[in-house]
Amino acid sequence: MTDLSLDATQLDRYSRHVVMERVGPAGQAALLDAAVLVVGAGGLGSPALQYLAAAGVGRLGIADDDTVERSNLQRQIVHGDDDVGRPKAESAAETVRELNPDVAVEPHETRIGPETVDLLDDYDVVVDATDNFRSRYLLNDAARLRGLPVVHGAIYEFEGQATTLVPDGPCYRCLFPSAPNPGEVPNCAETGVLGVLPGTIGSIQATEALKLLIDEGEPLVGRLLFYDAATLETETVPYERDPDCPVCGDDGIESVAAVDYEGDCRIEADPR
Ligand SMILES: [Zn+2]
Repeated sequence: MTDLSLDATQLDRYSRHVVMERVGPAGQAALLDAAVLVVGAGGLGSPALQYLAAAGVGRLGIADDDTVERSNLQRQIVHGDDDVGRPKAESAAETVRELNPDVAVEPHETRIGPETVDLLDDYDVVVDATDNFRSRYLLNDAARLRGLPVVHGAIYEFEGQATTLVPDGPCYRCLFPSAPNPGEVPNCAETGVLGVLPGTIGSIQATEALKLLIDEGEPLVGRLLFYDAATLETETVPYERDPDCPVCGDDGIESVAAVDYEGDCRIEADPR
């Protein structure tokens, strides 16, 4: 079983993919030809970036405007002790480059906002590894307008969640029409998270991204996965497209410029 698009080194490196009927040389070639943007090089981004790079995703964007702090290291395993004070995008890019020379790594030291969101145009799949509602809504809206899938993940103490938003499925706003008021939901800086929890959820996000790229399995479309690290129980809750959704509904927005993404938490889309 050979494929001319994979060289001998690649057939060796990806042999456990190539040998599988559901991936094979064609699936591997698709991964090498794909581009994924991981937004957030923190707890969720760490495993997502490393598994996507190891799997041979050909182009990997890393968007983060933060710098590594010592308090990140308990869970953000893409960074090491020597990286404290460095830009996260740069530190993560270095780790990922060491994992796999096949991967073109593109660090973007930027916060994704309405003015920088055009970055998404260069990618096939977006992994939302952010930690705030502003970014989640913005990525949802911008990706939807571009017809791109988003793999969402979120964590809090012992609990995590994941879902996958594809262009013809329900979107994040169908699931959560409005963000909680500022102060209602604690943010990551104020609360704790079990160090390994983002490892689990970020790995699920990488799983979903790979499935989308090779078109295999059943992604978490219209399903929200809840994971409780305390009990190791999971629950999958179905959700549907909301015809009145301000983004993917019948009168959806035409541009993220129409949406106010300011404020800490509370975000409302106004389609008018
Ligand atoms: Zn929607």
